[in-house]
Amino acid sequence: MRPSIIRIFNILNNFFKGKKVTMTERYSEEEFEGYVQELIDVGRIEGKEAGIARLMLDKGYDSLSEKQKYVFDNMIKQHTVNECQRCGVDIPWCEMLDALYNGGYCNYCQHMKEKIMRE
Ligand SMILES: [Zn+2]
Repeated sequence: MRPSIIRIFNILNNFFKGKKVTMTERYSEEEFEGYVQELIDVGRIEGKEAGIARLMLDKGYDSLSEKQKYVFDNMIKQHTVNECQRCGVDIPWCEMLDALYNGGYCNYCQHMKEKIMRE
């Protein structure tokens, strides 16, 4: 009995993992463009990457060439936190910059962490 239960658990686990939204799918979220703009403004991306980011803001992600998409995707990967280290939620784009600086926490958990440290 036991091994098959583990197997079913693994299948379910993979199923849910597979369902998780990928970063590229999150590009269509409303706040994403604001986040890209923010990255340029604070100087976290520059040079060629910033050029591609500006092009994306101007003409949209789909207008980028395959090569540009590759550079853009990599750049976003380096400047994002997949999920909150504490509660595991997807970090909203409007909180992403904070999460980069605070070690990967959503605003709520960051707030809780500070509260605990103060007490
Ligand atoms: Zn959290």
